Amino acid sequence: MRRAILISAAVVLAIPAVGTPGAAQRGVLGSVRRAAQGAAVGSFAIGLDKEREIGRGVAATVAGRWHVVNDAALNDYVNSVGTVVAQQSPRFTELPFRFAVLDTDEINAFATPGGYVFVTRGALELMESEAELAGVLAHEVAHVDRKHVLEQLRKQNMLQGAQSEADLNGFLLDQAVGRLTSVIFTGLGRGDELESDSIGMIYAAASGYRPDGLVTFVRKLQQNETNPRRGRFLAEMKATHPAASERVTALERQAAAAHLDPGSGQLLADRFRRFVRRR
Ligand SMILES: [Zn+2]
Repeated sequence: MRRAILISAAVVLAIPAVGTPGAAQRGVLGSVRRAAQGAAVGSFAIGLDKEREIGRGVAATVAGRWHVVNDAALNDYVNSVGTVVAQQSPRFTELPFRFAVLDTDEINAFATPGGYVFVTRGALELMESEAELAGVLAHEVAHVDRKHVLEQLRKQNMLQGAQSEADLNGFLLDQAVGRLTSVIFTGLGRGDELESDSIGMIYAAASGYRPDGLVTFVRKLQQNETNPRRGRFLAEMKATHPAASERVTALERQAAAAHLDPGSGQLLADRFRRFVRRR
């Protein structure tokens, strides 16, 4: 099993203070945290160790399809931004979230159970600020929090033959890892994606980033769908997510409901360029 995906955070980032979240934002964040704590999986409980074991297997397969970029500074930067937004997660203390960059022109991001998060080089090339990166990584953290991928074990009836967590070993474990990896590449449901957009935007805003980072990134996906060079690298993302226009509308509606000021918070475009565009 590849172990190179476990990356240490050598870069420690500080987000310049932007004031404390408003009451409405705190209220939304509180309900997001309570909802995340309530997620349950299957007819028997899958504990933290088993979730991470499954997640490591899926992460190793993802990192086998596209290798992690051989650039420690870039991975450390992405890992640091991810860690900043993951601190909003109710699971932050129980999961060592890890973030890394996949070396492909494909424009996408993935999260496995247990907190392994990947963003592609192609997605980074489309971004223009740390706020956009934070929004995308926070969307992935939300998938982990809500156990969207792990839940597929129950939703798709993948646990036949297992009476308890202890049975998820050997062949059954390999089978679960294989099927969950397919889920990551073929996509979650529309509801799971819109929920992660919504939670991700709140996490990024509560971390001090501009709340519209995810929205501006999703708009770029839409603008590039017909781009002759980039369009083909968006095909998989397009097939596995709700339409960009629907995501933008839902995010803008939620930002208004939560009284998020799109102009507040940090964009950090210069810092993003310094770490990502330095080659
Ligand atoms: Zn997603």
